Amino acid sequence: MSDTASAQARSRSTVGRTTVGLVVVTAAIIGTLVCQSAPPSAHAVSDVLRGDQGDTTTGADSAATEADGAVPDGVTVFADEYPGVANLDPELLQALRDAATDAADDGIEFTVNSGWRSPQYQNQLLREAVSKYGSAAEAARWVSTPDTSAHVSGDAVDIGHVAARAWLSEHGAEYGLCQIYRNEPWHYELRPQAIDHGCPSLYADPTQDPRMQR
Ligand SMILES: [Zn+2]
Repeated sequence: MSDTASAQARSRSTVGRTTVGLVVVTAAIIGTLVCQSAPPSAHAVSDVLRGDQGDTTTGADSAATEADGAVPDGVTVFADEYPGVANLDPELLQALRDAATDAADDGIEFTVNSGWRSPQYQNQLLREAVSKYGSAAEAARWVSTPDTSAHVSGDAVDIGHVAARAWLSEHGAEYGLCQIYRNEPWHYELRPQAIDHGCPSLYADPTQDPRMQR
């Protein structure tokens, strides 16, 4: 997206953005509390709604089922009974489990906010994001299309709990697990070369990723 388009998007949705901002701040506070206490009841499952922004409750969390990849709160990387976990790429899943096993020694648990998603689920998230952010261009910074999403192909996982993310940002490369986007500290993919060479440079957001240009 160009700066001009971005500026237009911003000016078009100033009021909405102010509201979103307040929601985000509120949700961030709630999210912090949530991470330090018991998990909340099931709510919307997506990068947008559950990443760092916690539960912003759009009421749109009813459509996606576990068969589409939705997972309840607190699901770990070992929960094979959920397609959202079980349908991840086997090598990614193994790397996650190896890392989670070692992180457990540090008292850290890896939970999955979102893993594999059906194309229908991804489309639902995209529609929600366009509604939330006010334009397709702005939504593209946060949610990919079913054709390009690494979640739909089973190659990406959104990790819950800031402590687990912090552990992964320090140790993930040893397992080939890399953060890909600067704006999504919860989103990890497998980069086997990282074991020897470290993780690649971060993209600012998904719009900078050549894979998303299709
Ligand atoms: Zn993700």
